[in-house]
Amino acid sequence: MSGINESGWRPEMGEAGSAAPMTYTGNRALMLEEALIFEIGSMQTTGVDISPLPPAGGAGGGRESPNPSRRREGNRLGGLERNRDIGLPGLSEPETVRHYTRLSRQNYAIDLGFFPLGSCTMKHNPRLNEKVARMKGFADVHPLAPVQSVQGALAVIHQLAHWLVTLTGMESVAMSPKAGAHGELCGILAIRAALEARGDARSVVLCPESAHGTNPATAAFAGYETENIPATPEGRVDLEALKARLGPDVAAVMITNPNTCGLFERDLKTISDLVHAAGGFVYCDGANFNAIVGRVRPGDLGVDAMHINLHKTFSTPHGGGGPGSGPVVLSKALAPFAPLPFVEKQGDQYILIEEEIAGQHHGQSFGRMTAFHGQMGMFTRALSYIMSHGADGLRQVAEDAVLNANYLLRSLEDVLDAPFAASGPCMHEALFSDKGLAEGFSTLDIAKGLIDEGYHPMTVYFPLVVHGAMLVEPTETESKAVMDQFIGAMRSVVSRAKKGDASLRSAPHFAPRRRLDETQAARKPVLVWQEPEQAVAAE
Ligand SMILES: *Cc1c(COP(=O)(O)O)cnc(C)c1O
Repeated sequence: MSGINESGWRPEMGEAGSAAPMTYTGNRALMLEEALIFEIGSMQTTGVDISPLPPAGGAGGGRESPNPSRRREGNRLGGLERNRDIGLPGLSEPETVRHYTRLSRQNYAIDLGFFPLGSCTMKHNPRLNEKVARMKGFADVHPLAPVQSVQGALAVIHQLAHWLVTLTGMESVAMSPKAGAHGELCGILAIRAALEARGDARSVVLCPESAHGTNPATAAFAGYETENIPATPEGRVDLEALKARLGPDVAAVMITNPNTCGLFERDLKTISDLVHAAGGFVYCDGANFNAIVGRVRPGDLGVDAMHINLHKTFSTPHGGGGPGSGPVVLSKALAPFAPLPFVEKQGDQYILIEEEIAGQHHGQSFGRMTAFHGQMGMFTRALSYIMSHGADGLRQVAEDAVLNANYLLRSLEDVLDAPFAASGPCMHEALFSDKGLAEGFSTLDIAKGLIDEGYHPMTVYFPLVVHGAMLVEPTETESKAVMDQFIGAMRSVVSRAKKGDASLRSAPHFAPRRRLDETQAARKPVLVWQEPEQAVAAE
C-alpha cells in the first residue's frame, strides 16, 4: 500500500490525473512530503551512543568479578543475547527531529486558523491559562502528595467547583470525569444508583433525535435500552411524542441543550416536569454550555445531571484526543450518589474525602470514575479563564458566541439551505443542508473545497436529522474580519458546487493528500507497517 513507486509519487497522495504537478521529491514548495519512519530509517543508524556490551562471559567494567557465576552472566541477562533485529527504525537525532516536525506541519490547528467544527467549540485558548497551568506549584503536584502539601491545588479544585455549581444553579459537582462522554457516564451511573436506592429498576433511556451521538452510546454502555424521540420540523424535541412514551420503565431522558441543530430547547422545563412526574431523571448534555453560560441556569430548568466540557466552554485546548475534562453538576436528588473523591473545606483547611463512610458521609456514592481527582491541568486553565472573564465576561462569551453564529447563518442562508433558519436565531452553531447543489455534488465536495481554501472543514453529515448536514461553529473568539473571509470562501465553494464545477469533485488539489477513499480508510485502516516483501506476499 505505502510503497514509493518509480516516479517517487506515493499512490495515497492522490488519484491519477491530479491537477497539481508532480515533483521529483514529492514536496510541494515548502510543504514537505514525509515517508513513514520505517521507510526512511535504517537499522544501522542510531541517535545515541551506547558503549558496546562486554562479551558474554567477560566481566563488566573491566574488573574481574571474584564470583564465577557473575562472570558467566556477562551482560547481566544470564547469557541471553538477542539473535534478531529488534525491528525499530533507526534515525540520527536531526533526522528524528525533522521527521516529527514535518509531520506536525501537516496538522491543522486553532493556533493556525479558523476551525469551524460544529459541536466541538474549537476556540482560542488564552495564553494566560497556559502560564498559570505551567506554574511549578500546579504543574509539578503529584496526586498522592500529602494533602497538607497541596492546599493550593485543592483550593483550585474547590473554587472551580464553586463556580460551576453557581453558574449552573445546581446542588453539587463531581469534578473527576475526564471528558464530556465520561461525564455522561458519570451522570447516568448516578441516576442508576438513585433508582436502585429506591428499588426502582427501570430499563429505558430516551434520547431525542437532536441529541449528540454520545448520549445513546453512554446509555447503552451503562446497560440501558435506548429509544429515539423524533424532532419536530423546527428541529426541537417533539414534546407530544415524548409525553406519549414516558412511563414506569423510563429511567431518564438525555437531552442535548443547546441541541445539535444549534437550537435552544425551549420546552426543557416542561419536559423536566413531565419526566419527574413519571418518576424519571433528566440528563442534560451541557457540552455546549458556552452558548448559554451566564444567561441560563440548567438547575432552574429542572435538570438532574449535566456535564460541562471545560475544554469547550472554559477554553483549555482539546483535540488529538485530549486532555479533556467533564465535571458533572448534580441536582439535590442525585448529589448523594456522586462519585468520590471530593474536596471539602473545613475551617481554613482543604481536605480530600477519599472514602465513603456508610451513615456518615457519601455513604451512597456509586464509586469512582477515575483513580485520582481529575485533570488538574484543565482545572487550572478553566479557573484562570473564569476568573479573568468574571461573571459579566462569561455572560458576554455566550452572547458573542451566539452573535457570531447568527452572523454566519444570515450571511450564508441565501446560498445554502438552512433548514431551521425560520425557527428563530440559532445558538452557538449554524446548520445547513446540501439541498440545491448541482446534480452529483455533495456536502463532501464543499468540505474538500474548503481545505484548498485553507480551512479545516466544518462538521459534516451530523446531525443526522438533516440531509448532507454542515454544522458550522465560529465561537466567540473569531473577529468579524476572520468570519467575513470564511464567508467569502464558503460562498465561492458553494457557488462552484451549484454551477457543477467538475474540479471541485476532485478537491483538495493543494493539500498534502488528495481525496482519499474515506470509507475504506475508516473500515479498513492500515495501522501496521509491513516490510514491502511481506506486504506483497500477504496480498
Ligand atoms: C463534544 C461533545 C460531547 C463529547 O465530549 P468529549 O469531551 O469529546 O467526550 C458530547 N456532547 C456534545 C453535545 C458535544 O458537543
